[in-house]
Amino acid sequence: MAIATLVGVHSSAAMAQDLQSKSSNRNAPSHRRTGASESELARARADVIQKIKETRAGAEKLLTLHEAERVRLLAQYEQRREQYYLGLIARNDVLQAEHDLAQAMLRVDEDKRWLAETDMATTEYSMRDELLRLPGLAVGGYSESGNFLRFNGGSAWALMDVSKLEKFFSGSFGRALPISAYGQTPTHDRLRFDHRNAIDVALHPDSKEGQSLLSYLRQAGIPFIAFRNAVTGSATGAHIHIGKPSPRN
Ligand SMILES: [Zn+2]
Repeated sequence: MAIATLVGVHSSAAMAQDLQSKSSNRNAPSHRRTGASESELARARADVIQKIKETRAGAEKLLTLHEAERVRLLAQYEQRREQYYLGLIARNDVLQAEHDLAQAMLRVDEDKRWLAETDMATTEYSMRDELLRLPGLAVGGYSESGNFLRFNGGSAWALMDVSKLEKFFSGSFGRALPISAYGQTPTHDRLRFDHRNAIDVALHPDSKEGQSLLSYLRQAGIPFIAFRNAVTGSATGAHIHIGKPSPRN
């Protein structure tokens, strides 16, 4: 079933890509936009988003199962620890339960991270047209408008600069920078979305930590787009995209 879904998505994505390249051709003076192709493109995009929503629904079910498993393994671990102190079982039995619990916690974290990453990629994909309609920014230019906070920083930004951001953030807030997507992810591949030179940070731009990160980025001249609103139906889409906007396909 998974394979069939992936194949379906791939062909839709390919179609979207194809239609998109036709769409940019139509921007040339010798071509004109036609309503029919616009609606085909919109349909192809909606189809990709729909497929991703289906995968997302499956991932949410899995998270519920993994969460229940985590709760069960936590209880098992506590029980075995008790039994060990009473001299009823061997130390290895406790260690095994501890290991199983740690694995279950990792699965839950990974499910949540995947959901957040997917919501952010979907948000960027869905809002791209809205974003591209905004006036361009000069180098060093900053703009706040409705859903977006944009900064066209002039620094040469590369993924290897992420360590500086991480250092700043953990130094200020005592926790790791919550990166949900580092460069290109499989979700971006499904969307045919170029995210190779960008990261997504799971912070709301209006939060204290988000504000602090944005002023750091502006001082350092690092470009960003902060998304205030998530697309409907996802709770975790608002985020900060660091790097240039993804180019048009
Ligand atoms: Zn991004």
